Amino acid sequence: MAQIIDGKAISQIVKDEVKSEVLKLSQKGITVGLAVIIVGDDPASRVYVNNKKKACEALGLISREYALSKDTTNDELLELIKKLNCDDEIDGILVQLPLPSHLDEKLIINSISPNKDVDAFHPQNVGKIMIGDYTFAPCTPAGVMELLSKSSIDVSGKECVIVGRSNIVGKPMSMLMLHKNATVTVCHSKTADLKEVVRRADIVVAAVGKPNFITADMIKEGAVVIDVGINRLENGKLCGDVNFEEVSKKASFITPVPGGVGPMTIAMLMKNTLASAKAKHNL
Ligand code: NDP
Repeated sequence: MAQIIDGKAISQIVKDEVKSEVLKLSQKGITVGLAVIIVGDDPASRVYVNNKKKACEALGLISREYALSKDTTNDELLELIKKLNCDDEIDGILVQLPLPSHLDEKLIINSISPNKDVDAFHPQNVGKIMIGDYTFAPCTPAGVMELLSKSSIDVSGKECVIVGRSNIVGKPMSMLMLHKNATVTVCHSKTADLKEVVRRADIVVAAVGKPNFITADMIKEGAVVIDVGINRLENGKLCGDVNFEEVSKKASFITPVPGGVGPMTIAMLMKNTLASAKAKHNL
């Protein structure tokens, strides 16, 4: 039976570390601030934004929320970001995605100062991740790396298979693992014989967005299985991309959903905002 990687407990360790550093900075007169922009009234986005605000408050960060109407124009949003880019109290700017369809997501993301882009979606930060010289990594893949390291799972020399190649999860995940000397394979919907490829893995990261997609027959005995997926079932329950019931009998370590990768994402956002403040002050 696999050992459960407790994302809630590990995220609390990360948050405690951030909190103590934020306190130390405040004793030197340095504040750490995050601005979150939400456009429209998508209920899921509202929950995420509230959680980010709560985390900021709990860790002593300055938290500013900009809740804009669903009719906000590109120009209005660009104007706000321009102001925040120059705002000394703000170290991180996060635009909650998805944006309403009339807004140009690429244009908006690219207008955030790379120094304050704590989601690490700006092309400049994406490029820096590629060459391994970065201040921020996207929160979810960074959270996976933190889960692994805090569980004393070394990726160096391991066969790591990532299922999913999105810009937010799969691709940056592959780079972070590669920088830690893993041998990385990235799978997607056109991968031939997915089962055989995943079965080679010492470490599997599932980021597909399909409930129970990864089954026990795809998993090597003793593999580490990290489930990034968050899927809502018809009965309202959350479930991951991995069939936890059967895979947990074969894996050595596994993350549950909920309570695995999910809680790490906000913790890493806090860590990135702290890193931005430290970089600004050359600390
Ligand atoms: P995307 O929809 O952007 O990407 C899904 C990926 O899965 C694509 O690369 C797609 O391949 C691949 N895929 C789809 N079907 C198959 C298949 N049959 N075989 C192999 N690969 C397949 O999703 P995201 O990366 O944004 O998110 C993935 C999951 O992670 C979602 O459940 C999401 O909710 C969750 N998530 C969780 C977060 C957290 O905080 N824990 C944060 C972000 C996401 P192709 O490119 O060929 O289409």
